[in-house]
Amino acid sequence: ERPKRRLPKWLKRPLPSTEMAFTSNVIEDLNLETVCESAKCPNRTECWAQKTATFMILGNVCTRPCGFCSVPKGKTGEILIDEPERVAEAAARLGLKYVVITCVTRDDLPDGGAEHFYECVQAVRAKTGADVEVLTSDFRGNRAAISRVVEARPDVFNHNVESVPRLYSRVRRNAIYQRSLDLLKQVKDEAPDMPTKSGLMLGLGETFDEVLDVAADLRAVGCDMLTMGQYLQPSADQLPVERFVPPEEFDELGEQCRKLGFSMVASGPFVRSSYHAGEMAAEATS
Ligand code: SF4
Ligand code: SF4
Repeated sequence: ERPKRRLPKWLKRPLPSTEMAFTSNVIEDLNLETVCESAKCPNRTECWAQKTATFMILGNVCTRPCGFCSVPKGKTGEILIDEPERVAEAAARLGLKYVVITCVTRDDLPDGGAEHFYECVQAVRAKTGADVEVLTSDFRGNRAAISRVVEARPDVFNHNVESVPRLYSRVRRNAIYQRSLDLLKQVKDEAPDMPTKSGLMLGLGETFDEVLDVAADLRAVGCDMLTMGQYLQPSADQLPVERFVPPEEFDELGEQCRKLGFSMVASGPFVRSSYHAGEMAAEATS
C-alpha cells in the first residue's frame, strides 16, 4: 500500500460530530443508501450535521467500473418497491426542503431504473412538497428512459460528465463523453425551463484548458449549472490524486466559466455535485 499522502491545509475537514447522529439514525432506520457514505464524501460531517443527505436509489452495487468511485461493483440486487416511500419518509423526517436523489448505474435493467427514479421523485414530492434534484446515470443513452425521468418534473436535472474526455478510459470507463452531452441536450430540448446541471472532479490529470473546453461543450448543450471540486481518493482501490488544485485556481476557473453564461458556477476544493444543492439551485434561478 502506498504511504498516505498528506492533505494540503485547505483540505482539512472537521471530525465526525454527534450532530450527525440524527441523520445517521434516519438513514439507518429506513435502510437507505446515501452517496455521502458510499462515495466517502468529505463533506459528510457538515452536511449530516445540517440534516442533509443525498439518497442513492436502485441499490448499493453499480454495474460500471469508474476509476474514482468507491460504490461497490458487481452483482446488483432487486429493485425494492418500497424504496420511493422510504426515501420520502426520510426526507420528511429530516425536514428537507430540497432533496437530491441519485442512483447507481443499472446497465442490467432495460430502462436503467428510470421508472423507479420517476416514482421516487413523485413520492418525495407528494409527501413533503420539497423541491427535488435528480442526479442521474446516463441510462446508456436510452432516450425513452431519460424522457421518463424528465416527466417526473424534477426541479433540477443533474448529470455529471465527471472529467475531461481524454481521461474517460481511466476515470469513467464504459461511459461516453458525447453520450452524456446528448443526455443534457435531450433534457433541455424536452423541458427548456428545467435547469440542467453537470460537474467535474479536478485533480485527475486534466489541464485548465481542457476543463474550459468541457465547460464550453456543456454550455453548447444548454447546461445551466456547473460544479467543480477536488477529487479525493476514497480508498487505495481508486485512482490516485494527480494534483491538489489550489483554491485560487478553482476561483480562476470559476470566473472563466461564469463568462460562458452559466446561471450558477460552484468551483472550490469541497464543491460536490450535491453540496449545498438547494442554495445552488436558488442562486441559479435568482
Ligand atoms: Fe452527501 Fe453531497 Fe453533502 Fe457529500 S456534499 S455529504 S454527497 S450531501
Ligand atoms: Fe460510481 Fe460510476 Fe457507478 Fe456512478 S456509475 S455509482 S460514479 S461507479
